[in-house]
Amino acid sequence: MASTLVRGKYVITKALSRTEVEIIENGAIFQQDGRIVEIGPYEELAAKYQPDEVLGSEHDVVMPGFVNSHHHVGLTPLQLGSLDYPLELWFASRLSARKIDFYLDTLYSAFEMIESGITTVQHIHGWLPGPAGAWPDITANLLKAYEDIGMRVSYCFGVRTQNHFVYESNDEFVAKQPPSIAADMEALLKPHEVPLKDYLCFFESLWQEWEGKGSDRIRIQLAPANLHWCDDEALTQQNEYAQKYGVGMHMHLLETPYQMEYAKRRTGTTAVKHLNKMGVLGEHLP
Ligand SMILES: [Zn+2]
Repeated sequence: MASTLVRGKYVITKALSRTEVEIIENGAIFQQDGRIVEIGPYEELAAKYQPDEVLGSEHDVVMPGFVNSHHHVGLTPLQLGSLDYPLELWFASRLSARKIDFYLDTLYSAFEMIESGITTVQHIHGWLPGPAGAWPDITANLLKAYEDIGMRVSYCFGVRTQNHFVYESNDEFVAKQPPSIAADMEALLKPHEVPLKDYLCFFESLWQEWEGKGSDRIRIQLAPANLHWCDDEALTQQNEYAQKYGVGMHMHLLETPYQMEYAKRRTGTTAVKHLNKMGVLGEHLP
């Protein structure tokens, strides 16, 4: 891999607080084989190294890559035909979306992210039907896209053990449907009812695989998809796995007024207080 000297009028090296950064004026970064060797004044580094290429100028700002802390897909639901509905209707509208290639879809969004200065992403995957045996190939393709393009990724697969379509059990929901569509709804929802142990096994094998590879760009984490999608057992077990494997958890919470009302009815308190009481919040789920 080539060596490069990247220069700028301002080289931002790191954040010191939420409002302050460390800046080197007329600075530069020398990288060799994808590793930063030295950061310092441009004149000094230009005299010391013979880079294959000099990027930037005395008019540019050079800064660390951005982190996209919540990401799902490449082609957006709008591009795939879903209008910008409220979340609950939006999920329904997405049922008709066409199947797409996970490798290409991930590459597509990776291009967009890199173009925007993002070099690290938290990728929350999931919303796929079971059986869990179908997931490793899909995940391997998705992670290969990040490997090929060179982005850092924290990958997690959303765990959903209940209430896949609305804020009540699939059986209760199906029982309320007119006979003309009840069977279709049941056939649609059943494959999503994957046992918790299958989700945990999937996490475990993925974690072992990527720990074994010793990748410095890809990490595997956990994702209880949302409070209404996880019963307390699923939350507790994932929390235990997070401690056991030393990984973070990423979770959706309180995205709509309906979810707030659901949390109140289920727990008698707020979603956040419930999670806190269960000991699920912490450094691994801030
Ligand atoms: Zn999300």
